[in-house]
Amino acid sequence: MRKPRLAKGYLLDIEGVLVRNKAYEPVPGSVAWVAELQERGIPFCLVSNNTTDRPTVLIERLNAAGFSLGTEQMVGALELGRTMLAERGLRRICWLGVAGLNNYWEEAGFELTGGDECEAVVLGVNPDLTTGDLEGVLPAVLDRGVDLVCLHRNLFYLDDRDCRRMGPGCWSAALQALGGVGRTLTVGKPDPRIYRAALKRIGVAAEDTLFISDDPVSDLITAGRLGMETVFVLSGKHGDHEILGRMDQDDWPDVVCGRLSDISLAEEDVS
Ligand SMILES: [Mg+2]
Repeated sequence: MRKPRLAKGYLLDIEGVLVRNKAYEPVPGSVAWVAELQERGIPFCLVSNNTTDRPTVLIERLNAAGFSLGTEQMVGALELGRTMLAERGLRRICWLGVAGLNNYWEEAGFELTGGDECEAVVLGVNPDLTTGDLEGVLPAVLDRGVDLVCLHRNLFYLDDRDCRRMGPGCWSAALQALGGVGRTLTVGKPDPRIYRAALKRIGVAAEDTLFISDDPVSDLITAGRLGMETVFVLSGKHGDHEILGRMDQDDWPDVVCGRLSDISLAEEDVS
């Protein structure tokens, strides 16, 4: 595979690209790489599927790890989820994500209810989710056909001890397999909505933008189909490119490299 070309804009996944995992330990070289991007004035945006920290907290955690970022440099599934639900008039929700974000919803006017009364079931990462919690929404999903809103559909994630944990993609697949009659809506990656929001934020066309992620399936397939150049880094979920063998070759990323700092931000001196 070739090297990535210089791009006019960069969209960056966070976990596995900027930081190793949910402990937010920086990937070696990533702090300096982002600082160089900022010094050069190159447009960029973080594209976050994080559903466990409110955006301000997420940025604070990144800055504590050495970055110097603001919330305006991130588009996230949580904020888009609030917008999508409000636009659809879905205000009574059964939130199956982490309890620490209950007030994130309530302060935006959402009412948190159980599965019996909700207008939508909302899924995010939740290490404490039990099968009992999922069974609690079966009446809503199977009998009332309420919408199942997935803030993202990642199948797994790395927790703060580097353990692989099942993600909302697994839970939504289980609920969908039961044959509910409602719609399943996805907010974050891989749904195109969050990519378009991020491109709009940086003001760069898809074909001039590089998307960098440690997840070629959940993140990069859509980026490639929207016309972006895609880079798969091996600093997160996948330590090698074995995952590509399980993907359609048409969906392979354009470039595979070890980590963010392997990507040049200026023409290399060949003299
Ligand atoms: Mg990632």
